[in-house]
Amino acid sequence: MSPRSITELKGIGEKRARLFEKLGVTTVDALLYDFPRNYLDLSNPLSPLDAPYGEPCAIRATVSSPVHEARIRRGMTLYKFSAQEDGVTLWITLFNNPYAAKKVHENEEYLFYGTMTGGLLTREMTSPEILPVGTAYIRPIYRATAGLPSYVIERAMREALAYAHEIPDPLPLPLREKYHLPSLAMALRHVHFPETLAQLQTARRRLLFEELLTLQCGLQIMGGHERQSGVKLLSDRSAEWEATLPFALTGAQKRCIAEAMADMTAGRQMNRLLQGDVGSGKTAVAACLAYCVIKEGHQAALMAPTEILAEQHLRSLTKLFDGTGVRLALLTGSTPAKERRTLLTALAEGGIDLLIGTHALLEPDVEFCDLALVVTDEQHRFGVKQRMALSRKTEAPHTLVMSATPIPRTLALILYGDLDVSVLDEMPAGRQPIQTRAITSEQREVAFDFIKKQLDKGRQVYIVCPLVEDNESEMQSATEYFEYIRSRAFAQYPVGLLHGRMKGKEKDDVMRRFSAGEIRILVATTVIEVGVDVPNATVMMIENADRFGLSQLHQLRGRVGRGNSKSFCILLSDSQSETVRYRLDVLCRTNDGFEIAEEDLKTRGPGDFFGDRQHGLPALRLTDLMRDCEALNFAQTVAKELVADDPALDNPENRPLRERIDAMFREYRGGLN
Ligand code: ADP
Ligand code: MG
Repeated sequence: MSPRSITELKGIGEKRARLFEKLGVTTVDALLYDFPRNYLDLSNPLSPLDAPYGEPCAIRATVSSPVHEARIRRGMTLYKFSAQEDGVTLWITLFNNPYAAKKVHENEEYLFYGTMTGGLLTREMTSPEILPVGTAYIRPIYRATAGLPSYVIERAMREALAYAHEIPDPLPLPLREKYHLPSLAMALRHVHFPETLAQLQTARRRLLFEELLTLQCGLQIMGGHERQSGVKLLSDRSAEWEATLPFALTGAQKRCIAEAMADMTAGRQMNRLLQGDVGSGKTAVAACLAYCVIKEGHQAALMAPTEILAEQHLRSLTKLFDGTGVRLALLTGSTPAKERRTLLTALAEGGIDLLIGTHALLEPDVEFCDLALVVTDEQHRFGVKQRMALSRKTEAPHTLVMSATPIPRTLALILYGDLDVSVLDEMPAGRQPIQTRAITSEQREVAFDFIKKQLDKGRQVYIVCPLVEDNESEMQSATEYFEYIRSRAFAQYPVGLLHGRMKGKEKDDVMRRFSAGEIRILVATTVIEVGVDVPNATVMMIENADRFGLSQLHQLRGRVGRGNSKSFCILLSDSQSETVRYRLDVLCRTNDGFEIAEEDLKTRGPGDFFGDRQHGLPALRLTDLMRDCEALNFAQTVAKELVADDPALDNPENRPLRERIDAMFREYRGGLN
């Protein structure tokens, strides 16, 4: 059955349909899934005597005076009247609204929806919604667009509800019965037009569950079904490896290693997310696991998102494995053909123990002899599909996914529903916190002078350009800003530019010159967010800091403070908003990525968590991750059960759910295969 177009609804012609399209709604199904963003609760109107001050509510009262009209200045007319109930008077003011004023008649009773203000003796309401008393209902408020106000959407929704029963219910009946969830048709009716708040709660609970279950089932299907068996390690050699290191592992590193070793020594396929703040020593954890695997005669692979990062890993791992006999090699897109051939032969014969590289590791002709462990770094740049591709290289290699973005537990569960999580929540001893200051552009000169002093000490500097909204102008504004820095502010220093529109080769080239110290100031967009490691860089200045998420700022800041010298971060923002000042203050106050992530989630919401949609997570409509944590855990449990019984969810009763999963993931990842 092809989906029913919204033009089939009464009152929706071509013109309106185009407006609906702006909201992303073209079918009746999609309309029904466009949930209200809020509600006016008119179901239980109060008397002015009982109404609370300062929060929106519906008051029922009788108009007790004529409407006075007063023109206070050109273009501004004020209407004022009183309404009474229980001997209490409510004064109502309307601005420039002759239409509403004309509808009000003395001695008639109305509902006034708004926020009551006033004091001991007076009660006032400004510009309330005025409704007939008969309208005692909970009114949905929709996300509107110009030309398409909420009440028009409301009217269309009433029409659409007649077709709600045609939509196959994604929740199979046994499941609904087991957990006492209403049918889809009923939930849709009640989420749009609840008669009571209790009905709304129940409907919302069901739809939320449906959303989370869809997501979790999708992740389960993608993540491979039940835990397979993996290469079984005979012993835990982590202590042996630690003895070769110049430093002692932190407690957190030891714990994460133990968690991973427990999987591998049990012969259970490891599928683990290793979360740790910048500098928490994730590489050492991965190296330790690789060591244990390699010393029992197997191979390991480490995949990084860029060539620069892969090269960096090769350098630091070569150091970490010094004297252990582990044989490392690097494979990237720029490995010359001849070298590549030799390397592949060695790899297939077991002459390489640890292969480090980029996507180049995923090429079909890259064959390992005995691959037992796959580590991917900076996971959210890869997407689940690529992770799977590498996993398919052998039977069931153990996988460790390293993420440098500290993610609150709830969000980690959503993003990586198919993974176990280990957290590195302790920094190696002796780390110097990065000193952070939030300033306004009035202090820009002072900041520039400070930067010059650092440059004159031989240090290097990152400057993150002002952020522009759309990608189109990213390049232009970055280039302009770069010109300003290069020819005006810092004319006597070599300045480089890095932005997302540059080709991979150009980017790598600029980074290489910055690493080598040829470029002293790197003007960049957020492309430098991940992993780059130039210990000599000691200042990070970020323009328009208010435009970034806290976690993103923290990530950017993590580019400095990597060497022995004291490092600084300057956050520039002219925003006067209290929230902004508060948020920037969080960064000045703490260097703890997890604390920052929690604050970020609280003040911004998960949608913005990684800047834009880099996480590849479908847009969730109902989920409020902090609040819905319990529901999320529950949905994950149910998803596991469902997928265990029916791995591809293609039993007839599960098919509607499978279709919703495909629709949810299609938008962002081109579907599941
Ligand atoms: P990240 O978690 O950001 O990937 P790295 O693994 O790159 O962090 O580690 C950052 C630096 O800290 C490296 O130079 C590494 O050798 C060092 N390091 C790792 N673990 C410890 C430790 N337990 N004690 C001291 N230094 C450590
Ligand atoms: Mg790292």
